[in-house]
Amino acid sequence: MAITVPRRGLFIDGVWREPIRRKRLPVVNPATEEIIGDIPAATEEDVAFAVEAARRAFARNDGKDWARASGAIRAKYLRAIAAKITERKSELAKLEAIDCGKPLEEAAWDMDDVAGCFEYYADLAEGLDAKQKAPLALPLESFKGYILKEPIGVVGLITPWNYPLLMAVWKVAPSLAAGCTAILKPSELASLTSLELGDICREVGLPPGVLNILTGLGPEAGGPLVSHPKVDKVVFTGSSATGSNIMASAAKLVKPVSLELGGKSPIIVFDDVDIDKAVEWTMFGCFWTNGQICSATSRLLVHERIAEEFLDKMVKWTKNIKISDPLDEGCRLGPVVSKGQYEKILKFVSNAKSEGATVLCGGARPAHLKKGYFVEPAIITNVTTSMQIWKEEVFGPVLCVKTFSTEDEAIRLANDSEYGLAGAVLSDDLGRCDRVSKAIQAGIVWVNCSQPCFTQAPWGGTKRSGFGRELGEWGLENYLSVKQVTQYISDEPWGWYEPPSKL
Ligand code: NAD
Repeated sequence: MAITVPRRGLFIDGVWREPIRRKRLPVVNPATEEIIGDIPAATEEDVAFAVEAARRAFARNDGKDWARASGAIRAKYLRAIAAKITERKSELAKLEAIDCGKPLEEAAWDMDDVAGCFEYYADLAEGLDAKQKAPLALPLESFKGYILKEPIGVVGLITPWNYPLLMAVWKVAPSLAAGCTAILKPSELASLTSLELGDICREVGLPPGVLNILTGLGPEAGGPLVSHPKVDKVVFTGSSATGSNIMASAAKLVKPVSLELGGKSPIIVFDDVDIDKAVEWTMFGCFWTNGQICSATSRLLVHERIAEEFLDKMVKWTKNIKISDPLDEGCRLGPVVSKGQYEKILKFVSNAKSEGATVLCGGARPAHLKKGYFVEPAIITNVTTSMQIWKEEVFGPVLCVKTFSTEDEAIRLANDSEYGLAGAVLSDDLGRCDRVSKAIQAGIVWVNCSQPCFTQAPWGGTKRSGFGRELGEWGLENYLSVKQVTQYISDEPWGWYEPPSKL
């Protein structure tokens, strides 16, 4: 299947531009290890140029700026973008598959979500018009007040590679809906579909500067975006280490940030489940998207009474997963994104072995694939809570397992993590599911499933998984600032100071 990778520049002020320093980065297909194209690498000068374009688009003072356009007008553009995504779905899904190794069917699914996200925020943008000047109940009759929700300004959006276009659009759609203008910095490991989003914006006639897309390396392109004084907020998804650096850099300017970071989420399986169903959800929770999911439920806590049967079945199911080039029909696990990530995952598995854990299956290159960054999904038992494999995010298809005997023990083990992004509980007893959902320290809990994600529902974590929420109405609030307007309406003078005539 021949796929042409378009050669693009940086998308600034509505047009393609070569980076000022003319630097480009190779794009490697992780399934073949071949270079299939290149992307521009922005540096500080390009960032400055893009920020100026975004500022002009935000407030032109000619009545045509994005911030003051009605929600209905902004919605029109968002819907046009959604329609183009749907029209180009198959091409975008293929580009994403060869860029980051995601199975084609999953990538196609993501493109539906991308279009749906633009549609959803188009609806919310329209709703914003009606919500302006929401009255404020004040306790004194001599005053009346109202609330204005205003776009925060120019926002810097920095994204990872595991859902390249979807993670970008979780930020682009609500920020544009709110009336912000934006600079998107996608991951250097998977930027192709974000650049195509630039092409789509150009095609639908989005006003210049409303969305700018700068590809490039984190420190060279992302760093200057965070520290630029005219960027009003930074919204970041990525690793906890980078998130912490970004927060420190933004703190110098007292710039707000919102951080969606990593995780090491638990899945608790009680002994009253339908074992086949629970095995499949456990696999989906950890091996979907080649195991590169921030919310992966990668710590399995299984009740000791069913552990043997459960693991026996899961090993058989796991060995049956179709591992292949992501473009092959029926592929369920493609390569991980890069050589660096591949080596990191293998190292996690070898460290686990040397710390005394048992690898029940996987954790190595599949025998039938000589090239590409493929890793067989691994299930690891005999894990202790002091091991690296229990504590650190692998970001690959690696599941570690512990057993438990009581609900309290399961909850204690589930919460034994620095992270708090997600968790899952599987049981036929819904009362127990409720109790455990409340007890799990996380921003997202799944009951009798793992991973389904809806645009309408808030997404984000606690602890070292970050703060702030994306998606749903919360996603829009991320880009709005609240202003109170308080008016004195009494005919009487305020009467605090004596008038001069009485002195
Ligand atoms: P990463 O932190 O390496 O990179 C993320 C982005 O930050 C990239 O665009 C990168 O270029 C940029 N960056 C790197 N250094 C920077 C710097 N100094 N200044 C500014 N920008 C910089 O993360 P990754 O490897 O791309 O993604 C994997 C991580 O993302 C995992 O930890 C995963 O859990 C997390 N993630 C979280 C969520 C969530 O919703 N919580 C979703 C997806 C991925």
